Amino acid sequence: MAARNGRQFLDRLAQARPHVDIMGETVTGGIAGHPAFRNVVATYAALYDMQHDPAYRDVLTYPSPTTSEPVGTSFMVPQTADDLRLRQAAFKAWADRSHGMLGRTGDYLNSGLMALAAAQDWFAQTDPALGVNVKRYYEKVREEDLLCTHTLVPPQANRAVPASQQVAGTLSAHVIREDDSGIVVRGARLLATIGPFADELLVFPSTLLRNTPEDKPYAFAFAVPNDAPGLRYIARETLDYGRSHFDHPLGSRFDEPDAVVIFDDVHVPYERCFVIADPEACNGFYTATSAVVHMTHQVVTRTTAKTEFILGLVALLTEAVGIGGFPHVQGDIAEVIMTLETLKAFSRAAVADAAPNDFGVLTPAWQPLNAARNLYPRLYQRFPEILRKLGASGLMALPTEADLAGSAAGDIATYLQSATLTAPERVRLFRLAWDACASAFAGRQALYEYYFFGDPVRMAGAYVAQYDLAPYAGQVRSFLAGEP
Ligand SMILES: Cc1cc2nc3c(=O)[nH]c(=O)nc-3n(C[C@H](O)[C@H](O)[C@H](O)COP(=O)(O)OP(=O)(O)OC[C@H]3O[C@@H](n4cnc5c(N)ncnc54)[C@H](O)[C@@H]3O)c2cc1C
Repeated sequence: MAARNGRQFLDRLAQARPHVDIMGETVTGGIAGHPAFRNVVATYAALYDMQHDPAYRDVLTYPSPTTSEPVGTSFMVPQTADDLRLRQAAFKAWADRSHGMLGRTGDYLNSGLMALAAAQDWFAQTDPALGVNVKRYYEKVREEDLLCTHTLVPPQANRAVPASQQVAGTLSAHVIREDDSGIVVRGARLLATIGPFADELLVFPSTLLRNTPEDKPYAFAFAVPNDAPGLRYIARETLDYGRSHFDHPLGSRFDEPDAVVIFDDVHVPYERCFVIADPEACNGFYTATSAVVHMTHQVVTRTTAKTEFILGLVALLTEAVGIGGFPHVQGDIAEVIMTLETLKAFSRAAVADAAPNDFGVLTPAWQPLNAARNLYPRLYQRFPEILRKLGASGLMALPTEADLAGSAAGDIATYLQSATLTAPERVRLFRLAWDACASAFAGRQALYEYYFFGDPVRMAGAYVAQYDLAPYAGQVRSFLAGEP
């Protein structure tokens, strides 16, 4: 099968039987029709339809190297600068569809799998079969256009000790035995966003937490179908309350579920394993293969789309109530503009300075992207803060769609008009601002951006450790020594 359309995505989901617990209910099928998931699933289906839309298909797909059928551009192994630009254009097309609010669209992990598969020889160093596994798995996901999510982090029981020391090492997902055909995994991981409706779950090492030799049973990378026997999700309550797009413009479209993942003796066939009992391989997994670079390229493109949307929202909101001329408001608008231009510059520099990696994959320059992924979790926090500050009481003077047609309609029309908008237009705009800065959906977005790549505090430590400070320290040393 080539790149899927929305119907094909939904048909496959209809066949799946993931075990999902949500708000006291156990769901084992019919995810696409469940009130907690149906709207965001429909949004995902629309992304797949875009792959067949004449307006997007030349950007979103390219000919499969094995069948020549169109497959997703995010699977493309880039060889030229044009390939990288096409990949970025494809990321942007999908990100614009959700204004960057969806973090687990398929292109994110497709990019990672592409880089991992291209680095087949790196996996083969320990065992040639592992190299074959990763290549074949990537080809399967590409040709079947499967939607993957991932889970990387051990349960948050006691962060003062490693996973191997929590409740005698039993909490975190670990290999309890190997048999003739694979490994058996028991324990938990958090979280898997979109787990309930993804096709596949990638159980990968953390991008941040380093494995030690004692972590062998926890040191693996594998993939399972999201309805593998023994795999269970505990999803958080939905933030899509089934209200109209007018009332909850973002939550009613883009609430990606987050779920704790339980492995109740899940059997993983060897052909789906990429790393087994190998802490060193886990530590090199993303960097030696450049997977993190290609994943971050997608993320920075997505966050650019999101920042564009926030800027547009701030512009309309300030215009609506006539505050755009006040200097401190302009200072806030300037902050969003600067963030946007910084992100765009990072992406541009990353592509301009791209170079082939050890496996012949043209890979964007890492330093601009790494700066972006360390900055954005912090910068994003300012956006809801700015929207709340500028929207003020307007974010609570918020009648619903029903009120606009109710007995208060006349009062609303008079008293909730704005400098540039009729009352219904103003209410619609402010409801969007509320959903971007003050609703439960907005709170989850801020949390998501903060922790997207892991704990920013520990990311900063890793960031400094990988950066070559010596040339700059040398300059200062020379200056202190009195050299010209
Ligand atoms: C909305 C959302 C969606 C997510 N989706 C996914 C997903 O799809 N897949 C996935 O794999 N993960 C996902 N995650 C998890 C994400 O990767 C983690 O939130 C992130 O790695 C931080 O880990 P933690 O949440 O366990 O925080 P913790 O590690 O428990 O940190 C909590 C606090 O304690 C501090 N702290 C803890 N340990 C240390 C230490 N050793 N040194 C210094 N400070 C420390 C941290 O700085 C932080 O302030 C998601 C998270 C959120 C919030």
